[in-house]
Amino acid sequence: MAYDFDLYVIGAGSGGVRSARFAAGFGAKVAVAESRYLGGTCVNVGCVPKKLLVYGAHFAEDFEQSAGFGWTLGKADFDWATLIANKDREINRLNGIYRNLLVNSGVTLHEGHAKLIDPHQVEINGQRYTAKHILIATGGWPQIPDIPGREHAISSNEAFFLKELPKRILVVGGGYIAVEFAGIFHGLGADTKLLYRGELFLRGFDGAVRKHLQEELTKRGLDLQFNADIERIEKQADGSLKVTLKDGRELATDCVFYATGRRPMLDNLGLENTGVKLDKRGFIEVDEQYQSAEPSILAIGDVIGRVQLTPVALAEGMAVARRLFKPEQYRPVDYNMIPTAVFSLPNIGTVGLTEEQAREAGHKVQIFESRFRPMKLTLTECQERTLMKLVVDADTDKVLGCHMVGPDAGEIVQGLAIALKAGATKRDFDETIGVHPTAAEEFVTMRTPVAG
Ligand code: FAD
Ligand code: NDP
Repeated sequence: MAYDFDLYVIGAGSGGVRSARFAAGFGAKVAVAESRYLGGTCVNVGCVPKKLLVYGAHFAEDFEQSAGFGWTLGKADFDWATLIANKDREINRLNGIYRNLLVNSGVTLHEGHAKLIDPHQVEINGQRYTAKHILIATGGWPQIPDIPGREHAISSNEAFFLKELPKRILVVGGGYIAVEFAGIFHGLGADTKLLYRGELFLRGFDGAVRKHLQEELTKRGLDLQFNADIERIEKQADGSLKVTLKDGRELATDCVFYATGRRPMLDNLGLENTGVKLDKRGFIEVDEQYQSAEPSILAIGDVIGRVQLTPVALAEGMAVARRLFKPEQYRPVDYNMIPTAVFSLPNIGTVGLTEEQAREAGHKVQIFESRFRPMKLTLTECQERTLMKLVVDADTDKVLGCHMVGPDAGEIVQGLAIALKAGATKRDFDETIGVHPTAAEEFVTMRTPVAG
């Protein structure tokens, strides 16, 4: 049968755009549908605007610290509307770049909501198109628990477009988004509380990293409330919000921001017209080659709920394009040693196993740790400390994990990830000459294990 397209991609986000562009580059006839915004979550309401807001929040510290270097500044004033307008302009520019990337690579762009009609057919804007392969790359959506008053709460989608910086804000959750946004709002001057239901936030990160970040954020005056969960939210006559916690406490705030995970975006996608199956958590179930239970339909990125990070969606998109249209270049995605950063202030950067994971996996471990005051702060009042940690296999000397809390941790860990992927040993780290004076050189100068 002749199809309209070799590949029809639903969703022009990180994974979809990558897959569509490369498939077209390999000679396939490709279309991509996008209902909302080119570039998807990362470009519009994720990584990019988030990082811009983190930069914005960091200025507060820079101004404070500049006094130690002889600067006298007038009273600093912050205007949220300017930051948001400038951010919006930059995101608009990126949307245009994504449009050009697609069009210039020969991909047909359909703007509208796409729905599956059958295993080889998609409907969009009243038109139907057939395709040999259909790739679902529809991403995720914020998930807010069903509590009374949830309609008064916002998610990350709205946080990027608030008209004003709230005077008081409660951020709920203990994952990436909650920790990053609590830092943003606190840095920009809002009275910020982070509420997390468990003992300590950032479950799954190395224990020392979690504790260190807790201490650093507390030092900065961010109000961290652990073992705290909201029972209900009520709007008051003056427009403020009364929040009642499960332990009976009441808090007054102007904004409640839920960052409690993301569900797959499957709304009105027409999956019922196909044999696609979902896993226990509700994400699309795929095999190692991203094929769903319906042979002509594949899925990648956040909608499969493996690792919800942009570079992972990009790698999956590339793998699909290669497997379908350039099989001689196909390489499976390696999910080991995925580096990641939490853009809190200070940042977390991490790659490889945590100490807890290494012990649980049966490794005999040696732990190396360095805690120090960054050189830049020695002329300032700021008492922030950096943590660096290496988890080493005592038998093979292989470095199993690198973890850092401190300025530019994400930048530093990217390079270390290459070393770990190449199988670097602690001896390789020791024999590497440092770059002086940097914080990063500490990673090659830790000599004495703190624990074995
Ligand atoms: P998406 O980028 O979500 O793209 C899916 C696209 O499909 C969307 O544009 C959507 O409009 C479209 N779509 C959905 N349904 C349809 C339909 N039926 N028809 C047509 N189009 C449809 N990751 C990082 O690596 N680093 C970070 O710093 C980072 N920060 C983040 C901060 C926030 C606040 C959030 C929410 C996420 C962040 N992420 C970060 C995660 C990252 O954004 C996602 O992992 C990534 O965007 C997933 O890409 P994707 O292609 O799977 O989906
Ligand atoms: P996460 O899965 O990272 O964290 C969700 C948090 O919400 C956890 O602390 C979880 O607690 C808590 N939670 C879940 N359900 C409830 C509930 N019903 N009530 C109270 N608390 C709840 O999700 P995020 O929304 O922060 O981010 C989604 C994903 O986006 C991330 O996992 C990450 O992959 C990606 N991302 C990446 C970024 C980066 O690379 N820098 C930045 C932002 C997002 P518990 O631990 O107890 O389950």
